[in-house]
Amino acid sequence: MKYIEPHGHMVSRTTDDYQKMAMAGCEAICEPAFWAGYDRASVQGFYDYFRQLTEYEPARAAKYGIPHFCWLCINPKESEDAGFAREVLSIIPDFIDKPTVLGIGEIGLNKNTKSELAIFEEHVEIAKKFDQPILIHTPHLEDKLKGTKLIIDALKNANLDHSRVVIDHVEEHTAGLVLDNGFWAGMTLYPESKCTPARAIDILENFGMENIWMNSACDWGHSDPLAVVKTALEMGKRHYNKETIERVVYGNPKSFLQQCPNFNID
Ligand SMILES: [Zn+2]
Repeated sequence: MKYIEPHGHMVSRTTDDYQKMAMAGCEAICEPAFWAGYDRASVQGFYDYFRQLTEYEPARAAKYGIPHFCWLCINPKESEDAGFAREVLSIIPDFIDKPTVLGIGEIGLNKNTKSELAIFEEHVEIAKKFDQPILIHTPHLEDKLKGTKLIIDALKNANLDHSRVVIDHVEEHTAGLVLDNGFWAGMTLYPESKCTPARAIDILENFGMENIWMNSACDWGHSDPLAVVKTALEMGKRHYNKETIERVVYGNPKSFLQQCPNFNID
């Protein structure tokens, strides 16, 4: 089946995962910059990470015939030291013109602190300056609703095109807020936490199948790089036809991502 993995942290995955994704029909992988499983000690650590995202990982994915794209930022988890975060922000323009860069992300909030919010707003300014789309991470569990509201308020103040912003990791209590404000919504499928395949399909049924994508995160924690495919199979069991399933797992992410000038998989 044809699908796109719109949010996969492939730097933490093995070549076996690339092979499985290729065999399952993955047509593109998009990798947001995020925490790497450990805190980086210097801006040089981010410089090397951005090189990994823009040079090494696309070459690794190409061996399995999958186009690889990425988003750039310093994640909220490592943004608590605003001085350090600003040093990282200062090197983003060095990479923004690389041929597989999609935009600024995944920025957002982790613990909803003042420093995280300040750095979030500075990222949004960079996105505006370079006319880039934005991918947003929302906090986990009890902080999610508050964090999503803070993010939406900041985006409204920034006065940008909401249809070029995707707010990821939505759940039942935040999906409506995101979609009603004209943003795209992302659902992250995890084996245990966040959305299971069954929960994700329930959300699609409650909020509609427009302007929403599903991703599997494929990160350094317990996650399943084939979660999108497994959810598509689950949709089949619920008697959705092939066209509807393909629209959700391929057409929708493609529609959003085509707003990024460097995204081209045809
Ligand atoms: Zn992520």
